[in-house]
Amino acid sequence: MIEKILEYQTVDGELRDIEVSLIQSDERKKASAAQAILKNANDNIARLDSKAEELVTQYATLSKLCEKLEEAQKDYENIVETCESGEELNYIKKKAQALADEINLMTVNVENLAKEIKSTLDEFAKLRQDNKKATAQYKEFAPKYNDLKASKEEDMKKIKVKLAKLEKGIDPNVLENYKKKRKDKIFPIVYSAKISGKIFLCGRCGTELPMAYTGSLKKGEIVECDSCHRLLYLENN
Ligand SMILES: [Zn+2]
Repeated sequence: MIEKILEYQTVDGELRDIEVSLIQSDERKKASAAQAILKNANDNIARLDSKAEELVTQYATLSKLCEKLEEAQKDYENIVETCESGEELNYIKKKAQALADEINLMTVNVENLAKEIKSTLDEFAKLRQDNKKATAQYKEFAPKYNDLKASKEEDMKKIKVKLAKLEKGIDPNVLENYKKKRKDKIFPIVYSAKISGKIFLCGRCGTELPMAYTGSLKKGEIVECDSCHRLLYLENN
């Protein structure tokens, strides 16, 4: 019983080695990095689009305000020319100064807006450049990765046939549990428990096993470590 699952794990280890070599291959890393950039690009474009729209609205509002202020300034200039009383002139001059200050502030706002528009355009340009690079990288490495995968397919198929045969001698519950852990990227999954005096320990992480597990192990059953979740058995049982 235990031998079967151990044998299964050894063969499964060969399959896992191939899977890991594919995942860690330069071809896959480069293809998936490019794919991630391309996927993000849509979000970035949408974000920049809405920012551009907002900037256009801001620009229109500021332009209108500037026009109004300039008109008001001209009006004051006309009034100053025709003004006869000194008191009135002072009042008008003060008003004109306040208007000039407002115009200065508005000029700063317009300059800031222009800077923001420029940085948005730069961002668009960079996005376009990154996208172009990522597209080229994906086009180069996706087929290379597919070729690499195809080159391993025969070996993987052979191992899977072996595994299917070995499955028949394994308790379905144990097998199901094993497969679940394999999906959770735990490997190796099955370990022998260690005995230290009267204490039983997990062979992987060294956690002390509860007394209740000891009886099961002695009966030749498999238990699960509460800490690292490996499947444990008792050797030479
Ligand atoms: Zn453990």
